[in-house]
Amino acid sequence: MATVLYPDIVFGPVHSRRLGISLGINLLPLKRKFCTFDCVYCECGLGEMFAKNPLPSAEDIAEALRTKLQALKAEGITPDVLTFAGNGEPTLHPEFPQIVEVVTALRNEFFPDAKVSVLSNATQIHRDEIRQALLKVDNNILKLDSAFDDTMRQMNRPWNPDYNVADLVKNLQAFEGRLIVQTMFLKGSYLGRSFDNTTPEEVQAWIRLVDAIRPASVMIYSLDREAPVKTLEKIPVEKLREIAEELKKATGIAATVAG
Ligand code: SF4
Repeated sequence: MATVLYPDIVFGPVHSRRLGISLGINLLPLKRKFCTFDCVYCECGLGEMFAKNPLPSAEDIAEALRTKLQALKAEGITPDVLTFAGNGEPTLHPEFPQIVEVVTALRNEFFPDAKVSVLSNATQIHRDEIRQALLKVDNNILKLDSAFDDTMRQMNRPWNPDYNVADLVKNLQAFEGRLIVQTMFLKGSYLGRSFDNTTPEEVQAWIRLVDAIRPASVMIYSLDREAPVKTLEKIPVEKLREIAEELKKATGIAATVAG
């Protein structure tokens, strides 16, 4: 099983396929994943839901970020984006709304042209305080991997047995367009069952849901780094472009493609 955990609160900057020069902010434990999903493609590896390791406080995060931003300024490096990502789901942090405020203030102080992005699995967006915090960032990037519960369960493996796509779509609609939908296209098998969210049936159903959600834009991508499950197949970039074109034709919504 691959486990590529981020060892620091602030990491990078790295060149992100989707975001440009990205400075990562990891609100999660430094030694293991903390997430409400256990995706078959997770670069942090497969793991348990709850971490025993403590989470960094909002103060720890502010201090680490200020130090890094000062260093970047001194080196003449300008990030395009400050990205909440790392070892799991950032919105699980109990101080997530305060941390958004702190990070935005530091961005304004050091690199006012940089965007603040959150990569989230969307499992906490039913909580008002999380939705309000996500509405304050520039790029609120939320996961929708399939229109079908069965495929979503195979790909994302949510710990909550009641998690379902219908509720997710309602919660995504509550952003009234102020979101970016992110979708991982992938095929493979795990524990004796196969899945493929690029079949015509899957793609058409996904397009219908994206149309119902009406996000500002969509990010589609396939595997990049090593995945913990070895039977997964990366989808060729040509196929991803085809899906993006179908989406645009059917809904008018633009998708960026990262192969
Ligand atoms: S949502 Fe992200 S962090 Fe959580 S298991 Fe999936 S890929 Fe990993």
